[in-house]
Formats: sequence, structure tokens, C-alpha cells
Amino acid sequence: MLVEEYIETTLNKSISIYWWSRYRLRNKRSALLDQREYPMSNPRKPFRINVGFIIHEEIGYSHEIPFELDKVKLDDLELKNFEGSVHIGRTPQGLIVQGKFSAETTLECVRCLKNFNYPLKWEITELYAFNKKSVSESGLLLPDDAHIELAPLLREYALLEVPINPLHKPDCKGLCIECGQDLNARDCGHSQVEGDSPFSKLKDLL
Ligand SMILES: [Zn+2]
Ligand SMILES: [Zn+2]
Repeated sequence: MLVEEYIETTLNKSISIYWWSRYRLRNKRSALLDQREYPMSNPRKPFRINVGFIIHEEIGYSHEIPFELDKVKLDDLELKNFEGSVHIGRTPQGLIVQGKFSAETTLECVRCLKNFNYPLKWEITELYAFNKKSVSESGLLLPDDAHIELAPLLREYALLEVPINPLHKPDCKGLCIECGQDLNARDCGHSQVEGDSPFSKLKDLL
């Protein structure tokens, strides 16, 4: 090997090592910065997000925030196995929030009154406008403190996926109109023909 060649390869190697370590260092540092600037959200308010750092980014910038929560309460809506993520993007008019989520909730079957797990899947898209001129239909404005609370949005959109008359299975037989027996479990022998029973009025409503 020529001396020049040797020098060149060694030099290239050390240059690439230099860049590699710089790169690693930079990544490490930005990871640390990330933790400092975007701390893990308050566990009691997991959907309150500081978006201040996104406001100052270029148009087109987008930041993703993943969520994974065993249990979460959105006001009256209790969810389990909550998973999903939001992308918060910088647009000229404001911050666009787009998210996809899945979770389970407990519903009561309207026929047999049994509680059952119901899987929900939903998406959200909303614009938090910088000023009143740019507000969308939902009228959301970016608050002065640059913290947005997604919980009410998540609840609102999730509730759209909750059936009005939930059934624990499509062919649920319901309760006996005479004795209240769960007919899925056992046939009590009563005729289920509408009579003057107090249950019959109720059944009409269902
Ligand atoms: Zn049922
Ligand atoms: Zn019965």
C-alpha cells in the first residue's frame, strides 16, 4: 500500500468516526432536550399538551405524540386499553391536530342489561387557529398559554362511535317480560307475548 493511500484511508476512517460520534452526541443531546422541553405529560391530564414549541416551527412541520394508557377517564366516558397517537402540524392558519385512537369501553346491553366490553376506534381532525379570522367550524383557538387540552375532543369524537342501543350480541334474547329472567341463560317457560306486564311497556321502548 502506498503511503499516500494509507494516510488517506486512516484519515477517512477517523473522519467518519469523528462524524459518527458527533452524530451520536447530537442525537443523545436532542433526546435529552426532548425530555426537558416536552416532559412526560401530567398523568392526571395526559391529553394536555404544550404545543408552544410547534408554533415556532416552519410551516409543514409535524410532531407526533403517542399514547398508551391502561385506563383513562374522559369526563363520564371510561376507557381501557387506550392506544393511539396525534400528529400536530404547523399550518399558516394554526395547528392542525390529527389523531387515531382505539380503546375499550363498558356498555350495558339494552335488552339483557348485562355489561360488556365494546371496542372503539375513532379519529380526530381539528384546527387550533392562531386568530379568530382563521377559526374553523369548531371555533377552536390556540390558547395564549399554548397548552391544548385534547380530552374534550377525544370524548366528543369517541362518543360518536358508541351505539345508542348497544347489544352485547346481535341476537341477544333479552329478559323475560314476565319474570325478568335472562333468556340468554335459560328459558323460564313464560310466553314472551306482550301482555299487561310492567316489562312490556319497557320492551316497547327498546
Ligand atoms: Zn344482551
Ligand atoms: Zn319468565
